[in-house]
Amino acid sequence: MTDTVSAPYSLKFALVPSTEQRAETEREAILADPGFGKHFTDHMVTIDWTIEAGWHDARVTAYGPLQLDPASSVLHYGQEIFEGLKAYRHADGSIWTFRPEKNAERMQRSARRLALPELSVADFVESIKQMVAVDKAWIPSAPETSLYLRPFMIANESFLGVRAAHRVGYYVIASPAGAYFADGVAPVKIWLSTEYSRAGRGGTGAAKCGGNYAASLLPQMEAYENGCAQVLFLDGETGSHIDELGGMNVFFVRGTDTLVTPRLTGSILEGVTRDSIMQLARDRGMTVEEREVTLEEWRLGVESGEISEVFACGTAAVVTPISQLKGKGVSIGDPDAPAGDITMALRQELTDIQYGRVPDRHGWLTRLDA
Ligand SMILES: *Cc1c(COP(=O)(O)O)cnc(C)c1O
Repeated sequence: MTDTVSAPYSLKFALVPSTEQRAETEREAILADPGFGKHFTDHMVTIDWTIEAGWHDARVTAYGPLQLDPASSVLHYGQEIFEGLKAYRHADGSIWTFRPEKNAERMQRSARRLALPELSVADFVESIKQMVAVDKAWIPSAPETSLYLRPFMIANESFLGVRAAHRVGYYVIASPAGAYFADGVAPVKIWLSTEYSRAGRGGTGAAKCGGNYAASLLPQMEAYENGCAQVLFLDGETGSHIDELGGMNVFFVRGTDTLVTPRLTGSILEGVTRDSIMQLARDRGMTVEEREVTLEEWRLGVESGEISEVFACGTAAVVTPISQLKGKGVSIGDPDAPAGDITMALRQELTDIQYGRVPDRHGWLTRLDA
């Protein structure tokens, strides 16, 4: 396992501990049933950037509201990006995270697309280590629980002119997360959005930015109204092939040994989970195909039995089986179908690596508490 980051980091982080840290009893009550994204730890990381000084003033301070001028550009033009990764507590108490340099590199790509400054991979990883060092008591230890880490970057220059901001803030906040499927992994129904797209050609689909999520919320409401957990988006140009869900990538099992996922077209977010699942499938001797997948292929494949399993993946829910796709005049699959064997085996293997239950043969883990 790799437990150090080899590249040197350049920023020094100052620590100003919170004077209002929650008592152990209060923290333990939260950790007993943390849910997702509801509770936040005692501290946060902040790094400032200006066009004159670059990145500076890295610090770990009490978690609390940001002071934003009402003219801050993020509030008007949505110049914002974010990341999501987790810290896992292993059985021996040690604390690890999963492929953080992938998140760091993706944040750099998102930054380029949103005309924000890039933070070095080493500084990104160090910011995660700093966050976990000060709030490690907030990492739950029950099975499938973790500390969800949310780095994000906003334009905070007070200026209403339309251009890339000259003042930016990078932050990391952390939130304890319970087991996503507390009562066992249950397949979900997915809503097909035929009216709305999340990304267009040359747009921001490949960047992890808040704006993409803003555009997905109305179709997401439609999904809930139709008893579905998430929205599936088709490509914006032809509306004939599969892009991804609002916040997860999608996979199909063909026959017993082929895994198919939409190729990265520029409108799909390149998931770290997606990449890891493809590697684990190849390790098992499966054929992995990254290519265009049409809605028609999905329908015909399920009808003929050729497509035996469909699942979605992302950091928050790891791997989620999909039982049925519903939409206006569309129904593919059986809402009562159980989770597929290959889906569950890949999920198990990925979480076994993340929680240190099997050897980390690809060197995916980074130790955070050493
Ligand atoms: C974050 C995200 C994913 C999943 O990426 P992971 O790195 O696996 O967590 C997929 N799609 C979208 C739109 C996302 O924002």
